Amino acid sequence: MKYCLKCWNPETRPNVYFNEEGICGACLWEEEKKTIDWDKRKTQLLAIANVAKGKARKRGTYDCAIGISGGKDSTFQAMYARDVLGLNPLLVSVVPDEITEIGLHNFNNLISKGFDCIRIHVNPKILAYLMRDDFYKYLHFRKATEYPLWASVYTVAKEKNIPLIIQGENAALTQGVSKGMNTDWDASTVYKTSTISGATAYEHYSSIDKKYLRLYQFPDLSNWNGKAIWLNYYVKEWSPRHNAEFSKKHGLRFREDNPEYYGSTHPWTCLDSYYHSVSQMQKYYKHGFGYTTDCVSYDIREGLMTREEGFELIKKYDGLCDIELIQRFCNFIGITEKEHWDTVARFKKYDPWDRFIVKT
Ligand SMILES: [Zn+2]
Repeated sequence: MKYCLKCWNPETRPNVYFNEEGICGACLWEEEKKTIDWDKRKTQLLAIANVAKGKARKRGTYDCAIGISGGKDSTFQAMYARDVLGLNPLLVSVVPDEITEIGLHNFNNLISKGFDCIRIHVNPKILAYLMRDDFYKYLHFRKATEYPLWASVYTVAKEKNIPLIIQGENAALTQGVSKGMNTDWDASTVYKTSTISGATAYEHYSSIDKKYLRLYQFPDLSNWNGKAIWLNYYVKEWSPRHNAEFSKKHGLRFREDNPEYYGSTHPWTCLDSYYHSVSQMQKYYKHGFGYTTDCVSYDIREGLMTREEGFELIKKYDGLCDIELIQRFCNFIGITEKEHWDTVARFKKYDPWDRFIVKT
């Protein structure tokens, strides 16, 4: 398996881009950031915000819609939109499969700062059914949660005629998954370029009656007169660590720092759902990397650790996930632990408990 020569971005990450020198798209973006005229981008962003304000006033609606979980990125997004851009946002949130206590605190904390929010609950029985389906077919149960997450803010913006959607981080830039993806400001085509690409919810779950999938289907935006943007394209300071520190100052709670339990070395990840770590652990079996690879790669790119220090953390923690979380997940989607491990074994190409993988 090959990795970026600067960070630990692996070649098995779907759609990852490497240049001829073996440097990944995320590291190239980090370099590009140094050459960008950020003042100019901020001016462009303020102009977009002003146009949105004008349109919203005429239409009698909100200036912008922001999809939020209540975590570090959405706290920064919402407060930046309101306090720096002067917008009146409507927040849109989909309740996760099974929300954690910290996730609920963080969501309530953000709303308490003074925001209107539409909170969407999808039918948990249907969600568990779809998660089980994706788990068995692809070892990728997150597809089922991501369809409503991505669709909801666009659906609400279209229905309420809101002229602007502010999305957070374009993974095509920050994780280097830029093959065939948009790397500019435009976030209106996320349905083509994210986890939910390849098929609409109606197509992907074609054996399910569409009446159960209304909140999963990405809307047709052809008659929506609006714009969707990525905030990290315009804002220099955007980074997971920056957003985490900013949000902590505003009341966001991190989980306890326990990388063996969560498989992640950043205590501001995996906050709102019990199943993020389970998903990352399963991903390791399939693609050979988990959350710690992402954490250390971000840290290396920001100059906070060396590549060698990052490797030590990957060896120790990547792909780990406590059995308690796995049992909880099995219980939620209605399978036994044996069925879980049998399914994992069908997709297994790598093993997170093999601590001696030779990485070059
Ligand atoms: Zn890299």
